[in-house]
Amino acid sequence: MSVSRTCLPSVQSERPCGSRVAPPAVQPDLAALVETVVRDVVRAVVSAGRGLVPVGVSARHLHITQEHLELLFGHGYRLTRLRDLNQPGEFAANETVTLVGPKRRTLEIRILGPVRRFTQAELAYSDGIYLGMDLPHRLSGQIQGSAPLILVGPAGVLHLPEGGIRARRHIHISPQDARRLGLRNGQTVSVRTRGEMSVTFNNVVIREGDNLNLEMHLDTDEANAAGLRSGDLVELVAGEDGSGNQ
Ligand SMILES: [Zn+2]
Repeated sequence: MSVSRTCLPSVQSERPCGSRVAPPAVQPDLAALVETVVRDVVRAVVSAGRGLVPVGVSARHLHITQEHLELLFGHGYRLTRLRDLNQPGEFAANETVTLVGPKRRTLEIRILGPVRRFTQAELAYSDGIYLGMDLPHRLSGQIQGSAPLILVGPAGVLHLPEGGIRARRHIHISPQDARRLGLRNGQTVSVRTRGEMSVTFNNVVIREGDNLNLEMHLDTDEANAAGLRSGDLVELVAGEDGSGNQ
């Protein structure tokens, strides 16, 4: 008996050879696929060693301790994952809380996981103006004496004496990329953007850590002022202490 068609060895299927393959019930998430491809291309350009860094725009968000999470959402509550972020292990959670400012105005703020050792709201300067909060300009984690927070969740209200900041712009980098670009942890560099609204950002802090993906984090005010979106490339220029790749 002859076989009318040939099974391609690369096709992984449990169906017998020659049977009709039904279309998948769930279409692949095209947007996620495009995002993955774009990120791969961006990384390839960066790894070519041209001193270009992809931008990640940070919308307002909340880092939270497990204890505070349970006070706002209920005993034993666990964060649930909405989508992964570009840094390993980090994710945007489905959970949001309401931030109440001194002007009795409110904003919804998304929690980023996993839970941390401190609770901290990273807000844009314009968020602070809207809410009536005086936000100090800090590196993430440096919350001593920062703005008080009132957070409202479905199961409780939290008054914290500190935790509200405007995050300093920074670049996440692996030790390998830091070596390649001549950068070291804690130094500050300048970064030039392109396009009609191009600007130079000074005082950009290098934050080196194992397995970090190369990415510059800006808040929405900074990104909007410079016409930047996540994935855009910016150019490293000489560090303010004389280092850098140019
Ligand atoms: Zn960051």
